[in-house]
Amino acid sequence: MKLLAEKTALITGASRGIGAAIALKFAEQGANIAFTYHSSKEKAEALQNTLAQHGIQAQAYQSDASSFEATEKLTQTVLEEFGNIDILVNNAGITRDNLMLRMKEEDWDMVIQNNLKSVFNLTKQLLRPMMKQRQGSIINMSSIVGISGQAGQANYAASKAGIIGFSKSIAREMGSRNIRCNVIAPGFIATDMTDKLDEKTKETYLNQIPLKRLGEGEDVANTALFLASDLSAYVTGQVVSVCGGLQ
Ligand code: NAP
Repeated sequence: MKLLAEKTALITGASRGIGAAIALKFAEQGANIAFTYHSSKEKAEALQNTLAQHGIQAQAYQSDASSFEATEKLTQTVLEEFGNIDILVNNAGITRDNLMLRMKEEDWDMVIQNNLKSVFNLTKQLLRPMMKQRQGSIINMSSIVGISGQAGQANYAASKAGIIGFSKSIAREMGSRNIRCNVIAPGFIATDMTDKLDEKTKETYLNQIPLKRLGEGEDVANTALFLASDLSAYVTGQVVSVCGGLQ
């Protein structure tokens, strides 16, 4: 029996990177997959086709996770087309790095809106449907930077720390309804997001990672699978770091 058979997952920002790895892992384990992207239409369509080869229902949706209105439309459509949503993965995220002295107000607002408000948006839309279903697993993508802080990432670290406080609160509010809410805090994972960093920064990180390699999307996806499935039925309000021992 596959771990996610007969479950439906909604994953934000799955056209690339960690989100795409999670979508593939969940599909391999039998879940139907609804996923969103912001602008990478071709990549999203290619992923949709790959997912469908696993014999599950798969659909890509262009939807801005930072817009409350857009997430309202999205969740209504997904519920109509899939019937239910058992697993929500709030994965969409961006960076606008700069030292605080140079950070512009718009860099702050963009990152908070895309990384933190998006988590509020999707969670708010899906709590009632999950309550009706009497079960649900919400997985929110933070970062070890949200725990430790990072020079040049005050906006990003604040958004990721906010996700942790939010998720622990939802776990407490919704536990009696059998809705679990957990956080993954990835370290340095090889995706487009980290590819933007200069070689010196990458080298510095690598030297500090006890497991002596960058993480792969699949490393994060394996933890997401645990948190999505009934293997973690008694786990809620937790932060799981997937960071090769970095933090
Ligand atoms: P990525 O490769 O840059 O991919 C980001 C994904 O998010 C893309 O699918 C993008 O869609 C989507 N997205 C961005 N803004 C969106 C919005 N407003 N609405 C809908 N989708 C949106 O990033 P990643 O490295 O896979 O990171 C995924 C998550 O893990 C993020 O939350 C990130 O902060 C977190 N994380 C990553 C690392 C790391 O080392 N990579 C470490 C810690 C935490 P388009 O393709 O259409 O632009």
